[in-house]
Amino acid sequence: RAKAAGRGVVEVFDDELRAELNARAELETALRHGLEAGELVLYYQPVLDLGTGRTRSVEALVRWVRPGHGLVPPDAFIPVAEASSLVCDLGRWALAEATAQLVRWDAEGGHRGGLAVAVNISGRHLAQAHLLEDVTDALAASGIDPSRLTVEITETVLVDEPLALEHLRSLRELGVRVAIDDFGTGYTSIGQLSRLPVDVLKIDRSFVSSPEAGHADLVRLLISAAHSFSLGVVAEGVEEDGQLSALLAASCDAAQGYLFARPVPAADLPPAELPGAAVLVSETRT
Ligand code: C2E
Ligand code: MG
Ligand code: MG
Ligand code: MG
Repeated sequence: RAKAAGRGVVEVFDDELRAELNARAELETALRHGLEAGELVLYYQPVLDLGTGRTRSVEALVRWVRPGHGLVPPDAFIPVAEASSLVCDLGRWALAEATAQLVRWDAEGGHRGGLAVAVNISGRHLAQAHLLEDVTDALAASGIDPSRLTVEITETVLVDEPLALEHLRSLRELGVRVAIDDFGTGYTSIGQLSRLPVDVLKIDRSFVSSPEAGHADLVRLLISAAHSFSLGVVAEGVEEDGQLSALLAASCDAAQGYLFARPVPAADLPPAELPGAAVLVSETRT
């Protein structure tokens, strides 16, 4: 409390802050309850292999089917979850659910068998000692090969959390893959890429979909740098043919975006041979 400020100013500030804190606390309580009550669902978005135009993996993206609120997007509740250990509970659930879904798709014996899945893990969770246990539990319960699981983390995590790097190394020793999400929006330099324990770089949508000429150059640069460090590259947020052709010209490995498919519930995941996608890729390539 700022003692120097006039009493009235302090009171207004207190009221606003109190309202804000109350709203966050209510949201956190509702989310904690929602997680236990099974209100969270994973949507899946195909990630296309640009060599073949086929879906080889999907990204799991959480949604909250909150009673009275409809389908709540992650940006509306992940930040609140990240303020407490709730985000770790959410991550543990997502790991278990996504790996179990792969097994259900395998059991269908159809075109969704053999997919890989990427799960977003918060920096707070990555820094916890039990992260490794959460991953090994999910692998053991599902029985999937560890190489079919990718953990997506954002680059800020690597700067903030000393334990994070150690855990990434352990995950890779298990055979789990690690991707840096939203690359380009944080502080990691290209030079650091060679030293990070990661397998895949995901280029942020803001660069992929930017009409600025300089950003197209940056995307090309990121792809060639990643390749020189033997990292795979996924471009996120591909919405237009022109963006796809630029990515193909730059030898990008994989892409996801509304041009191909939106995130959908597990039951609605389109076939690995997305209608039109292979044609789109091969035609855009020439
Ligand atoms: P992200 O991991 O970078 O996920 C990609 C986001 O871009 C998703 O938003 C996806 O729906 C959206 N997207 C994909 N293709 C396109 C496109 O072509 N155009 C546009 N405009 N958007 C596209 P979503 O599902 O709302 O997720 C937002 C963020 O929430 C994610 O960003 C991720 O950081 C976080 N998140 C999602 N699920 C989880 C989770 O299970 N755990 C944690 N900790 N975070 C999650
Ligand atoms: Mg992601
Ligand atoms: Mg991303
Ligand atoms: Mg993002």
